[in-house]
Amino acid sequence: MRLRLCQEAVSRLAVQTRQAKKTRNAECAHSGGTRSRVALRPRAEALLSWYDRHCRILPWRAKPGERPDPYRVWLSEIMLQQTTVKAVAPYFMRFVTRWPTVRALAAAPLEDVLRHWAGLGYYARARNLHACAKAVMERHRGEFPSEEAQLAALPGIGTYTAAAIAAIAFEVRTAAIDANGERVLARLFAVEAQLPAAKGRIRSLGEGLLPPTRAGDFAQALMDLGASICTPRNPSCVLCPWMRACLACRRGDAETFPRKVPKPEGQRRRGAAFVLLRANRAILLRSRPPEGLLGGMAEVPTTEWTHNFDESAALAHAPRPQCVPLRWRRLPGVVEHVFTHFPLRLTVYLAAIERSTVPAPQGTRWVALSELADEALPTLMRKVIAHAISQRSPL
Ligand code: SF4
Repeated sequence: MRLRLCQEAVSRLAVQTRQAKKTRNAECAHSGGTRSRVALRPRAEALLSWYDRHCRILPWRAKPGERPDPYRVWLSEIMLQQTTVKAVAPYFMRFVTRWPTVRALAAAPLEDVLRHWAGLGYYARARNLHACAKAVMERHRGEFPSEEAQLAALPGIGTYTAAAIAAIAFEVRTAAIDANGERVLARLFAVEAQLPAAKGRIRSLGEGLLPPTRAGDFAQALMDLGASICTPRNPSCVLCPWMRACLACRRGDAETFPRKVPKPEGQRRRGAAFVLLRANRAILLRSRPPEGLLGGMAEVPTTEWTHNFDESAALAHAPRPQCVPLRWRRLPGVVEHVFTHFPLRLTVYLAAIERSTVPAPQGTRWVALSELADEALPTLMRKVIAHAISQRSPL
């Protein structure tokens, strides 16, 4: 009986989805087909007037009439790379409260910046952020340059970010097209070429649409349209200011754009992590090397992370404080984490020392559990520690 109800619900859902698609296609076909046999040319004015009514209120955006602050524009653009607006907002506020200017950020110790970045991921960005702040102080006397080429020569600023800062902070007439914008333009012009090779083509299509003024608003309007209307799934074409000009909408296959070369799935790596507690109040941590994956971040000691991890030899890599016999316990379950290029699976070992005076082995340090929040712990390590702490037994 329950199975039948489920099947009915699934088929009802399938019918509703088909109907929604038909309606969307019909709406697109109507606007493009009945009123005009030839697709209209998309106009920047239509997008800008939509933006004037519907732009998102974001903590890094200048209010109407205000001049955008290049520091805030740059900081937000770096934080938003590969990360959602929702995740970035609290980090952005924390950063600008602590370091309100590029000068203040450049003067901060890198460890402090990494600590405040912890949890936001893609940690190379934090190191580049700090290096870029220093470079702005040294090369440009604390003022961000307005030219794209000079911006792109700074650490951590790529082609898109340079264009975004130039357009938004300095009103340079340039096309700043992020992933949201790429999706919108690929659909608008039904670009058949696949990303990433199609980036140049999409950018020049974007350049062709640039308005004579308001380059910053145009860039942000494209971002907002992609984020709220022209979404990866179920775009709300009926609400789109470019519906009558959109080729993909007229064809009814908007969701299939942008075309992309399928990403090869990274091979899983495995390893072991060692959580050592001292008198149940402190945990043994170390810092990762400054370069490479999670560079400079804090971690519990681990084995290497490899494709051919041999778990029977894992304990040979466990930390060994002098003169203290340890009983490592392999905890049930594993910790899974996905990096950009590979998924990782860690088994977790836990041991505890009753004495509170045991010194940390070379290259490691004891950190009070009550002060863990101040450490630059990446999300992976937070998961490992939470996994271990939830299973510790009282000493
Ligand atoms: S929302 Fe629809 S009409 Fe607008 S650009 Fe995207 S696919 Fe085209």
